[in-house]
Amino acid sequence: MQSKIGINISKCSACKICQVFCAAWNTGTVNPKKAHIRVVNMFPTPKIEFLESCNFCASLDVEIPICVKYCNRKALTLKEEY
Ligand code: SF4
Ligand code: SF4
Repeated sequence: MQSKIGINISKCSACKICQVFCAAWNTGTVNPKKAHIRVVNMFPTPKIEFLESCNFCASLDVEIPICVKYCNRKALTLKEEY
């Protein structure tokens, strides 16, 4: 089974909470440049990229990846692929 994160870009407000929280949980710093996800505020819709360094929070003891959990607009969703 491989977990992947779906993006519904129409729901994204480009708040970058996912980026900040990824950095905080995965690197111990609130520096968004250290995150494994990038949110770019573009017109008319933002752009979201997962870096190759993203391991879906495998090194953390969490059931839901941090970026998915803290996106309060549900722009990120966890998909299960079998
Ligand atoms: S994906 Fe969610 S948390 Fe990340 S910038 Fe978009 S709305 Fe904010
Ligand atoms: S899944 Fe985890 S490591 Fe990957 S971008 Fe989201 S918070 Fe960061």
